[in-house]
Amino acid sequence: MTIKQTIKKYNHELKEVTHIPSKEIEILIMYLLDKNIIWLHLNYDKEFEKENELQKIVKKRATHYPIEYIIGKASFYGEQFLTCEQVLIPRPETEILVDKAKDILENIQNPKVIEIGTGSGIISVMLALLIDNIKITAIDINDKALELAQKNAIKFKVDHKIDFIKSDLFDNVSEVNYDMCISNPPYIANNYKLPYNVKFEPGNALFGGEVGDELLNNIISITYESNIKYLCCEMGYDQREPLAKLLKSLKSKKIEFYKDYSDFDRGFCVEFNK
Ligand code: GLN
Repeated sequence: MTIKQTIKKYNHELKEVTHIPSKEIEILIMYLLDKNIIWLHLNYDKEFEKENELQKIVKKRATHYPIEYIIGKASFYGEQFLTCEQVLIPRPETEILVDKAKDILENIQNPKVIEIGTGSGIISVMLALLIDNIKITAIDINDKALELAQKNAIKFKVDHKIDFIKSDLFDNVSEVNYDMCISNPPYIANNYKLPYNVKFEPGNALFGGEVGDELLNNIISITYESNIKYLCCEMGYDQREPLAKLLKSLKSKKIEFYKDYSDFDRGFCVEFNK
């Protein structure tokens, strides 16, 4: 069977889990053959010799298991990052958080940043790529995440700009002389029913507490107490009001909330009076 016929044969098996089933079969074929899209388009009529292997991974994908875990990568900010189980898969809206932080950091010389909950490392690695002379401390409570983030930093040759530390908030951080704290923390309420695909991702990267914004509240408080001037965070679409209240009570100099690509409230940047 040719590649083209293989795509036709298997795409219907993914109709329930994605709105781009043929595209996903193509992605799985490219993964199995270790080829890119240009090669694929030029070789649709070539014989496909890995049908057994394809069958297995299509079956797995049909259970809503994320394609990013199968192929071990995900795109973020136009780059290909490594992914792995037990670590959150990068989401496109986090690109907005990176852009917001970039706008602030571009105006600071030799900025020092701390990222809480680095996960796959996408935020720290992107900032390291975008900002000259930046120094970042990237922390996480999850060993798997720190290992993956480090691999991504090495992949993009920015590992000399980032220190990785296993730490719950600032517990193991000795020095807190930072210009900015940034985080895409777990912010979903514990009892929220996750969609099928998200259930394969780690709960400790998703659930922020009974209400959902508990960890965000902690991050705001420790950033303020540590005298860090800027804080940029992603948040849940319904958390703007309570967070705005807390931020105002801390006499922040400037608070900006931003929306995601679907026009939902999705994050904020705050400048504290320092
Ligand atoms: N910083 C990582 C990301 O934005 C991980 C976030 C998390 O695990 N909550 O994808």
